[in-house]
Amino acid sequence: MVRTQEQQALLHLVREVSRRQIAPRADQHEAEATFPAELFALLAELDLLGLPFAPEDGGGGQPPEVVCQVLAELSRSFLAVGLGASVHLLATGVVARHAARDVRADILPRLISGEWLAAYSLSEPDSGSDAASLTTRAERDGDIYLLNGTKAWVTHAGQADCYVMFCRTGAHRTRGITALLVPAGTEGLEFPPAERKLGLRSSPTGQIVCRDARVPARYRLGEEGEGFGIAMAALDTGRLGIAACAIGLSRAALHAAIAYARSRRQFGRPIGAFQGIGFTVADMASAIEAADALCQRAAAADAGRPASTLAAMAKLVATDTAMRVTDSALQIHGGVGYTSAYPVERYLREAKVLQVVEGTNQIQRIVISRNVMGDLDDEEG
Ligand SMILES: Cc1cc2nc3c(=O)[nH]c(=O)nc-3n(C[C@H](O)[C@H](O)[C@H](O)COP(=O)(O)OP(=O)(O)OC[C@H]3O[C@@H](n4cnc5c(N)ncnc54)[C@H](O)[C@@H]3O)c2cc1C
Repeated sequence: MVRTQEQQALLHLVREVSRRQIAPRADQHEAEATFPAELFALLAELDLLGLPFAPEDGGGGQPPEVVCQVLAELSRSFLAVGLGASVHLLATGVVARHAARDVRADILPRLISGEWLAAYSLSEPDSGSDAASLTTRAERDGDIYLLNGTKAWVTHAGQADCYVMFCRTGAHRTRGITALLVPAGTEGLEFPPAERKLGLRSSPTGQIVCRDARVPARYRLGEEGEGFGIAMAALDTGRLGIAACAIGLSRAALHAAIAYARSRRQFGRPIGAFQGIGFTVADMASAIEAADALCQRAAAADAGRPASTLAAMAKLVATDTAMRVTDSALQIHGGVGYTSAYPVERYLREAKVLQVVEGTNQIQRIVISRNVMGDLDDEEG
């Protein structure tokens, strides 16, 4: 929950900027699949790309609850911006926690100020939900690592200034994975054309092909073999961010549905006066509030390091809510909802991806069930 006057002023500012400067740019960027660089520059100007980090590092020192509310506001106006900010904060968090002192001193201020955009590269073509099966190799050769392999599905691939990349340095499934900070200009990196997606088109998603890419060993994040744990801990925070994005998107859909239900008349009355529509709106509004309460609870659970179970629950509930709410919003619009004359068809397309990224919702259910029931496979033997 927002407590201080400063936090209230911050949220007011974000709301105003989102409505006036970010929302009006969404349709064109999505239609043309262009990266909204000018909007990330705006976030940087407003110091929003370093919000959760310590003031002594130049960050905003804001708790996760406030960061989630900011991400929700941004996503309510333009999901690609809210989600992009969330990914940047997730990757920047890994640098803040695990970079060597000199690298941290050099890179972190650029990320916190928004001069540099960060990305998070865990997935590969053959390694998605089973992240520990990744095969991109990082071989130590003196004071460099030599990277070979293909990373996939990287948000901001080709646009980011650096990539927090997870590579194989040993045979052990999880303890053979190491995190590296890979600057975009590293020789040996190739960025094939971005994926063509159902939605979120202005947020580039693509592969990074590494062919003998040479990364200085001092750019390692954490110790060799610690990468899998680092990746999973970062995802706890990331999942909260995705939950917040889903809440913002759901609010946009609810708002659009209410406006349409008040203005559209059939049978001589606004359609919102029909109980069938009113009950749908009631269910949408209630589900959003419930998801938001869970997200805030997860955010408050452990400042900066949310409990895995609550983060997974928040991601699951908020993104499933976004899917249902955006579907209902389109239904309330009838035929025009299926056209690009109204934003609800975009909201529906955008909601779908939130059930997939940062662990599909099946994977969230696996995390939650294991944590509440224990690992039953372990008990069999
Ligand atoms: C737009 C977009 C942006 C992305 N951004 C990033 C990014 O920035 N960085 C990054 O590293 N990755 C990113 N990803 C990748 C994303 O995290 C993966 O797509 C996701 O983890 C699923 O992996 P997969 O696509 O390989 O699906 P798979 O793992 O192949 O899964 C296919 C289906 O099987 C189900 N499944 C798999 N295993 C199980 C199981 N044990 N039990 C039940 N069901 C199961 C899945 O839930 C899914 O429905 C992005 C993806 C998209 C679409």
